[in-house]
Amino acid sequence: MLVFKAKGDLKSYLDPFLEKKDKIGFVPTMGALHQGHLSLVENSKQENDLTVVSIFVNPTQFDNSEDLVNYPKTLDADLELLKMAGCDVVYVPTANDVYSNKVISQSFDFDGLENEMEGKFRNGHFDGVGTIVKTFFEIIKPTNAYFGEKDFQQLQIVRKMVEKEHLQVNVIGCPIYREDDGLAMSSRNLRLSENHRKAAGFIYKTLLGSKEYFSNHSTLETENWVRNQFENHPLFELEYYSIADETSLKSLVDKSNSSYPRAFIAVYADSIRLIDNISLIS
Ligand code: AMP
Repeated sequence: MLVFKAKGDLKSYLDPFLEKKDKIGFVPTMGALHQGHLSLVENSKQENDLTVVSIFVNPTQFDNSEDLVNYPKTLDADLELLKMAGCDVVYVPTANDVYSNKVISQSFDFDGLENEMEGKFRNGHFDGVGTIVKTFFEIIKPTNAYFGEKDFQQLQIVRKMVEKEHLQVNVIGCPIYREDDGLAMSSRNLRLSENHRKAAGFIYKTLLGSKEYFSNHSTLETENWVRNQFENHPLFELEYYSIADETSLKSLVDKSNSSYPRAFIAVYADSIRLIDNISLIS
């Protein structure tokens, strides 16, 4: 497995593969890798000649500097996991290498997808995501790029960017990997206190409960039911629970307006923000 820190070196290495028309699979990550990330790597390995993983904590997608500073960094362990997973190439750039001294976001129009859910609570987040993903696509020129449904809104926004900017890459969504108690795997889970971690299965349990409840109640009733579950919980604070159409990501007032309803949730465990989602198709 080769590790590159400079985009020039990475591009020179990838050029012969691109000339041969080899398929390059790309998995962007922010490190602190877990099985969820590795499942994306496995998918890429199955479908491509070469798999490239990036590890970069992208500053422009953080609107909270404390969250950026505290984001877990476990590079040595990450490289070991990637080696064992059979990854071919890892790109671990500095901010200067990807941003060329101007660490700012491009402004994107994602047809309003950026204004829903996460967009309401994380200022400028999706401009930061769009900027870094587009930059990586330009450097790596992947055939296929793999994103987790764990960040479902991000996945749809990347799809939208690829469509609007006519980028030559297939965006592939991969299912959410969960811990045994249902908690969606996340690098941020490493920062949970023991008590919060023990109790965190509650989030997925409530999502499952809401799916059941939604089968014979309205959207509003279901959202109220979830709010109630959290009001009675001593450890978790609900930021939002929203039922939306999978494609438009618009809130569903009337459940008959979408064949693909999905529930999205963001929860605080002390200062740690956790997100998750579940399809509500029964
Ligand atoms: P991150 O390092 O959190 O930016 O995540 C990198 C990629 O891994 C993103 O496409 C995430 O959606 C994906 N990912 C993170 N957690 C999971 C998970 N539990 N299951 C599947 N994919 C995930």
